Amino acid sequence: MITHDIIIVGGGLAGMRAAIETCKTADTALISKTHPLRSHSICAQGGVNAALDWEKDPWESHAFDTIKGSDYLADQDAVEILCKESRDRIYELDHWGAIFDKTHEGKIAQKYSGGASYPRCCYSGDVTGHEMMQTYFEQILKNNIQIYVESFVTSLLVENGKCTGLTFIDLKTGELEIIRARAVILATGGCGRTYLRSTNSLQCTGDGMALAYNVGAGLKDMEFIQFHPTTLLGTNILISETVRGVGGYLLNANNERFMARYAPDKMELAPRDIVSRSMQTEILEGRGIDNEYFLLDMRHLDEDLIRGEFAQVYDIAKSFGGIDALKEPIPVQPAQHYTMGGIKTNIWGETSIKGLFAAGECACVSVHGANRLGGNSLMEAMVFGRRAGIKAVEYSAKHNLGNISKCIIKNEMHSLLNKKEGEKPSTIINELHTIMWNDVGIFREKNKLKNAFIKINELKERYKSIYIEDDSRIFNTDLTNAIELGFMLELSELITLGAINREESRGSHYRTDFQERDDTHYLKHAIAYKNDTDIRFEYDNVTITLFEPKERKY
Ligand SMILES: Cc1cc2nc3c(=O)[nH]c(=O)nc-3n(C[C@H](O)[C@H](O)[C@H](O)COP(=O)(O)OP(=O)(O)OC[C@H]3O[C@@H](n4cnc5c(N)ncnc54)[C@H](O)[C@@H]3O)c2cc1C
Repeated sequence: MITHDIIIVGGGLAGMRAAIETCKTADTALISKTHPLRSHSICAQGGVNAALDWEKDPWESHAFDTIKGSDYLADQDAVEILCKESRDRIYELDHWGAIFDKTHEGKIAQKYSGGASYPRCCYSGDVTGHEMMQTYFEQILKNNIQIYVESFVTSLLVENGKCTGLTFIDLKTGELEIIRARAVILATGGCGRTYLRSTNSLQCTGDGMALAYNVGAGLKDMEFIQFHPTTLLGTNILISETVRGVGGYLLNANNERFMARYAPDKMELAPRDIVSRSMQTEILEGRGIDNEYFLLDMRHLDEDLIRGEFAQVYDIAKSFGGIDALKEPIPVQPAQHYTMGGIKTNIWGETSIKGLFAAGECACVSVHGANRLGGNSLMEAMVFGRRAGIKAVEYSAKHNLGNISKCIIKNEMHSLLNKKEGEKPSTIINELHTIMWNDVGIFREKNKLKNAFIKINELKERYKSIYIEDDSRIFNTDLTNAIELGFMLELSELITLGAINREESRGSHYRTDFQERDDTHYLKHAIAYKNDTDIRFEYDNVTITLFEPKERKY
């Protein structure tokens, strides 16, 4: 059996930053269902927020923008940490060789991103995630951290309330393996692929959230799903918010800059929830183009800027949309983009299960509350990846390896491979996508949500009799897609139930039947726990330190 002090699941920014920390003193390994450099973090375009010069841009301003952006649901102690520690994480990357764009004085250049009161978004052209990931990966190689690549984690092992390891399928051989560890850190990313339209990579299926939930960890604020306003029509590939940050604007079917109606001050740079909702309202009121899209115009911008800082955006529009952004506006529509909720952790990445830690998009330390600001997620992954690493080292130094009794190891793999007939998973995923997009999307309402809940439960029943055609062992993506579907069904149910329970509108969660924010009843976090076959909710107060909730206007 493979044994390590600490095993980190996920090779994105959060997982790699955790590993760089833990490897200093503990025997560390990282496991990922893709190669680490194919993690979704690599897709991040726009940039990463940090208040660098506290005289001009005090960390408190970053904190205020984040908390206001979160519609006051963020836990302010966690936001303070994010905003205070972000500067160090940027300089650390810089010193490790990451090439950020620079000003003429040689300082790290910064620009505006949505909901920000100061230009504090650091970037590497429009391939920021790529640059940061390469830099972290160099540190992983330098430190000789063992990586189990293309290894799909299927369950967490918990004995006597302690996480003692995990099981995984080695995709290269098809064998089911076990890793025993003193501590496990989950850094498995978001669950965007539950939605029909999403900017997320196909791998973002919420595995870690479902794995943790299945062994008793709480999932916090799952109803909060972010929709990004500008994704390329049809493919939903992201067109970075920073295009609007430098002056790109949105037009409706009447050639109007319709954002003037909804956010007269911030216009196109209002936070994502507001811009997405404005677009959906325009569509409902008949001002969307062909009832489904808008134009993002950047033709007035400098050609050198478009070809330089926005080379990737230019290329995406050309290669996937056939659009020359220098000559034509880009057709865009909203799509799912980010999972604000996730595995409940404290500010050190600790979950409710001993020895189990979480960081990055799969976790909810709640720095984003009801709506995340652009540029804050990469920073969250770095800041809280490191912190989870520090605590996991402390924990693993004090705890021996736990027991693993083989009988508890759930083995979905063999039962799926041995089935000879049943329903194909693809029909279930197609139905799930449509339900989530239509009924648990940008606008939500009680009857539609309840209907979605019933339908998801029917899909869960049908899932029990799925059958996969491919019974081979090596790189069997039929098998992994089927397991991922199981995770997504579980999470979709929680997202929907959370949305039913929250009878108010806050951040990304907008109820047409309860259009106001209701702090009296809902200024609180909802945490879902698995209770045998049932779901139990607990509620936590929001931690408020510096900023009392007030109305959110842009
Ligand atoms: C297109 C796009 C652009 C974005 N742009 C920005 C931006 O400009 N600024 C910003 O702040 N944020 C941005 N975000 C958000 C940000 O990129 C992510 O939230 C962040 O990178 C998540 O990092 P992570 O390490 O938590 O997860 P990920 O990078 O998603 O990594 C998850 C890892 O977990 C592994 N994994 C998952 N399940 C399993 C399993 N069952 N077994 C083994 N391994 C598993 C995966 O293989 C992967 O290695 C963007 C997101 C998208 C989709």
